[in-house]
Amino acid sequence: IDVNKIRNFSIVAHVDHGKSTLADRLLEITGVIKPGAEHAQILDNLQVERERGITVKAVTASLNYTLNNEQYLLNLIDTPGHVDFSNEVVRSVAACQGVILLVDANEGIQAQTVAVHSLAKKNNLVIIPTLNKVDLPRANPDKVKAQLKSVFNIDPETVMSISAKKGWGVKELLEAVIQRIPPPQVNNDEHFRAHIIDTWHDKFRGVLCLAYIHSGKVKVGQSVRWKSDPKQHSVKYLALLRPKEEPIEEATAGQVVMVGCGPKGGGNVGDQLLALESSENADVSSIPPVRHMVYAGIFPADQSQHPLLSDAIKKLALNDSAVSVKNDTSPALGQGWRVGFLGLLHLDVFTQRLLQEYKAEAILTAPSVPYKVKVQGSKAIKKYKGEEVIITNPLLLPEAQNIAEYYEPFVIGTIITPVEYIGTVTTLCIDRRGTPLPSSAVDESMTMLQFILPLSEVVIDFHDTLKSITSGFASFDYQDHGFHPSALVRLDILLNGVLVEELSTIVHVSRLEYNARRLTEKLKEMIPRQMVQVAIQAVVAGKVFARETIKAYRKDVTAKLYGGDVTRRKKLLKQQAEGKKKMRSVANIKIPRNTFIDVLKR
Ligand code: GDP
Ligand code: MG
Repeated sequence: IDVNKIRNFSIVAHVDHGKSTLADRLLEITGVIKPGAEHAQILDNLQVERERGITVKAVTASLNYTLNNEQYLLNLIDTPGHVDFSNEVVRSVAACQGVILLVDANEGIQAQTVAVHSLAKKNNLVIIPTLNKVDLPRANPDKVKAQLKSVFNIDPETVMSISAKKGWGVKELLEAVIQRIPPPQVNNDEHFRAHIIDTWHDKFRGVLCLAYIHSGKVKVGQSVRWKSDPKQHSVKYLALLRPKEEPIEEATAGQVVMVGCGPKGGGNVGDQLLALESSENADVSSIPPVRHMVYAGIFPADQSQHPLLSDAIKKLALNDSAVSVKNDTSPALGQGWRVGFLGLLHLDVFTQRLLQEYKAEAILTAPSVPYKVKVQGSKAIKKYKGEEVIITNPLLLPEAQNIAEYYEPFVIGTIITPVEYIGTVTTLCIDRRGTPLPSSAVDESMTMLQFILPLSEVVIDFHDTLKSITSGFASFDYQDHGFHPSALVRLDILLNGVLVEELSTIVHVSRLEYNARRLTEKLKEMIPRQMVQVAIQAVVAGKVFARETIKAYRKDVTAKLYGGDVTRRKKLLKQQAEGKKKMRSVANIKIPRNTFIDVLKR
């Protein structure tokens, strides 16, 4: 195929502005699916995507379209809109020359619109600004065009108007894609070189990859190697995704194709697949590394399930390159993993996919953000292999006397809100330890606010709170702002003077007393009475910040029963015995296992 007839593009937008619906229309126009077909949002093929109505994975569809008797190959990449999946967007745009920037003509510019616009700009992509949902009676295209002009300096003349739902203007939009977005720039004389933008696992064929070919061409049967590994492989599978696989024999520079090198062939996102002759240090636009925003422990429901869960996590991590997985052990929960995620929705989706796609049930510990410390003393520096240590698990925080400085991760939060909520939103952000940055008007009724915020204050429930205090009208997005010095301490929990490792948390000093009180009160509710009195203490470096006491009590579940009913009595005793197995014992105090999971939740 002539590279001048290729267009690689992606649809980017704030969540719910209509990306997946538009993708359906594009598939219809190009004959991939029948108009009015039952299966709406055809590219959202994961069960979790269908249930939640959100796109989680970026998906590719290669479409044929004829304009002025010329046939074009259009590679559409549907991307998720939620912040938690922004790395999928980043990887997709790396293979694109342009984007359709979709904006709901009723809602106007939202926080993620700003984020995806700046991403497209950063990557020098051609932007086709497009208003969607113009069929809605409350749609106000002129108002939103004015917003685009004032926020992004977009010429109103260049803005397309469509209704993805009704199909209005979609054909014109597709022609604008061909006319405005340039073909990929490639060098056909060089050796084959492709970068991997996605991978997934196939039961029979091993790892399959979505690859963007930078230069040269590739054939089925050709010998290739990974940039990361000199071992020789041969290309076994080559296909266009339409979005169903259509096997091909050969693919050329500029194309986005599926490749696989068989069950032992490997493949990782960000790696490059090269012709054997290709020079090792070939320079290809690289994909920025992922920064994990929350970490949580994942454990099997019981240890016999460990191999099953291990296998499932391995395979899912392959399809979801944004997670990081490390082995972890916990006295209460056994062998497991410490897993890094981009956010809480990402974490939720990951565990849901484990269950739905791999039938693997997992227990999750309370999520926490990563912290950083600078250690002092030559012994400590040697032990931690350097001065700077990233802490993904509060348990692994070095001793206080070895820490020279604590750092906490910050983000720049962007909020677009109706002007009447500016005061409420500002109060929320200040309350979350935010520092305001200059704000700017979107138009006379909407404002864009920006704050530097600690990540720990936004990952858990910030978005829900923001939505509820603004009646759902404010939108939020955030970008990494790196680590900054902060006043942090490790808050420990002691039961009758004995440290319970799993319950240690890292908190900001301003939150210390509140957290200490809340934790001890919750533990008092959750730990059953014991034969001995139990003292619960929240402690920082030996100093007690909160204390609760559980009075001693002899628990006998059969005491209230009539003597005659032997089977019932036996059953109860058995249940009690089983319950005991799921306990963790600290200083002879029996703690139900789920306490460790539930107590740290907000
Ligand atoms: P995404 O999150 O950007 O992928 O958005 P979806 O494609 O899932 O669309 C979100 C919602 O908006 C769905 O309920 C769609 O039916 C609806 N929608 C999408 N496009 C239009 C449109 O042009 N007009 C109207 N009225 N609704 C639309
Ligand atoms: Mg979608």
